Amino acid sequence: MNLTGTVYRPPYEANSLLLQVTLGCSHNKCTFCYMYPDVQFAVCPMEEIEADIEEAAQQVPNVRRVFLEHGDAFVLSADRLEAIAEAIHRKLPKVETIAMYASIQNIMHKTDEELRRLRACGIHGLDIGVESGLDAALKYMNKGHTAEEARVQLLRLTDAGMDYSFNTILGCGGAELWKENAEATAELINAVQPHLLFIGSLHAQPGCRLYQDMKDGLFRECTCGQLLDEQERLLSLLDLKDTYYFGSHPSNIVPMQGKLPMHKDDMLEAVRDMRRKLSGHLEEYPVRRGGEGSILTR
Ligand code: SF4
Repeated sequence: MNLTGTVYRPPYEANSLLLQVTLGCSHNKCTFCYMYPDVQFAVCPMEEIEADIEEAAQQVPNVRRVFLEHGDAFVLSADRLEAIAEAIHRKLPKVETIAMYASIQNIMHKTDEELRRLRACGIHGLDIGVESGLDAALKYMNKGHTAEEARVQLLRLTDAGMDYSFNTILGCGGAELWKENAEATAELINAVQPHLLFIGSLHAQPGCRLYQDMKDGLFRECTCGQLLDEQERLLSLLDLKDTYYFGSHPSNIVPMQGKLPMHKDDMLEAVRDMRRKLSGHLEEYPVRRGGEGSILTR
């Protein structure tokens, strides 16, 4: 199986077959992103993809889930994605779901009929970096979509029968806008009712603009107390019917998972409990070790 460059995948795709169909990310300019800094976006030739599927059929014939790489594989045309799905099902008949990272723009460029066709061939469970419901944060983070565009496109996915993970980043609005960010993001999440909510906290690494902006004082990150306040505000405003909350990302001060609305009170209590434990350190900034390592206070 040929995988080029650094490979990222959502934590819950740990047991999936990772199949490379693109190289890098077609957008590649989110302010916080350090995933593919020097990678020129490219589409993998169909012959290479078919050869990898053939190899997978020999090595992992019983695999049930495939995750297409890299950064926004849903940028591929509906025809190309359908051809890849057909090749997968031909050689790996037990595959039920074909997932991948997708951007709001990727969805925008597909018709309703194409989305339905893709769902019919097993494409499902997209992983979408929406990040925020606050336009000011989305603009600074250079996501290339507005909150309203995200709302419209995510509802189109739901209409096509596709589940997805709504990925959001606490701290996206920085120290000045943590409250507005929580409120606008909760409003967007409530409007689209995602199947899965993936929560991370803002962290910058060398190689992205955010890292430099933080060093230059152009972006003021949230303190630990503000991150907890934002998480509490967001959670308290969520009005969801049936959503899995996946917040175990190592960037989070309070890593937790649960179902909403069922575990909402427990989650809120976990945030408050952490605030009590960190009292005396709430004005400090999170310190991280290693890549996406644990979040600690100084
Ligand atoms: S869309 Fe994803 S992979 Fe591409 S630049 Fe933004 S965060 Fe990075």
